Amino acid sequence: MNSIFQKTSAPWARYGEYEYRRGDDDHLYILPSQAAKPSVYDPLVNAEAMVVDALNVGRLSMKKVSEKQLRDAVMDFVTKYGLLGFMTALPTTADFMDYDAIYLPKNHFIKEETMTTREYISLYFPFSRPDFYKDKRTAEWRVGGSEQIDREALALAMAFGSGPMALNMSLQRGYAERYDWIVTQFRDLAFTLVSSILFYEDKDKADESTLDLYRQGIAAFGGIAPTYHISLYRDKPMIVWDFHSLLRGIQMMFSFALTDEARPLRLCKNCSMAFVAERPDAEFCGQECK
Ligand SMILES: [Zn+2]
Repeated sequence: MNSIFQKTSAPWARYGEYEYRRGDDDHLYILPSQAAKPSVYDPLVNAEAMVVDALNVGRLSMKKVSEKQLRDAVMDFVTKYGLLGFMTALPTTADFMDYDAIYLPKNHFIKEETMTTREYISLYFPFSRPDFYKDKRTAEWRVGGSEQIDREALALAMAFGSGPMALNMSLQRGYAERYDWIVTQFRDLAFTLVSSILFYEDKDKADESTLDLYRQGIAAFGGIAPTYHISLYRDKPMIVWDFHSLLRGIQMMFSFALTDEARPLRLCKNCSMAFVAERPDAEFCGQECK
C-alpha cells in the first residue's frame, strides 16, 4: 500500500463477540453480544487485508450463495474488524451531536436529506436507547447508561474521548448496524473493483457505451475525504487519520489499493474472489486455486 499511510494510525474498537438480532422493524441487526469485551486496535496496520476481506464479502453477495453463507461472512468480517460506523460515516459531519438535525449526502441507505439528530441516532439503537440528553444546541450523554458503571464502556470512552461524541456512542455495546446495509456497502465496493477491472480488460474491444457504463460505475464511488492531525506518538510523529468510522477508512484504503500499480487488486481466474497480486502476472488468489 502507498507509503503515505506508512506512519499513520486510526484507532477503532471491536468486541470479542457479535450476534444477529431482529428488530421490531423486522430488519436484521448485528451488534456486540451482551458480555463481549471491547478492545482498541489500529485497522491501518493491515489495511490491505481488510480491504480484500471487505471486497470478498461483496463478491460473495454477487454470487449465488445461501443467506447463511453470506451472514457468516458478514459476521466473520465484523468479528475481525468491528462494525463499520455507519452512524458517523453517513452524515456530512461526525460532530452532528452539536446540532439539532443531521444532513445526508446521497447514499444507498437513507432517502431523507435531513432528519432530527434524535431520530437519526435511534436508527442505530433499535434495542436499547443510549442515555443521553439533547436539546437544540447541546448534548449530554452518560456513558454505559445509568443503572451500573460499565468499566469497559468508560475505558472506551476515555480512549476515544477526544473524538466526536457520536463516534464514542457508535463504539458502545448497544449500538447496532443493519445487516443489509453492510452487505450493500461491500457489494458497492466489489462492484467498483469489477467495473475497474472489466474496463481495462475490455478497453480495446468493447463499444463506447459499454465503456461508459464502467466509467459511470466508478464515478459513483467516492467518499468524503477524512481530516487528519499530527500526533507526537511514542518515539516519532505520526499522521493520525480522523476517519471517525471504519467505513470511511475502508473506502479510502480501497481507493489507494485500486490505484496501486505495484500491488494491484485482481479477481482470481478460478474462484473470482478479490486478491492483491504480489507479482504482475499473478492470476490466482493462492495455491489452492492454481
Ligand atoms: Zn481463487
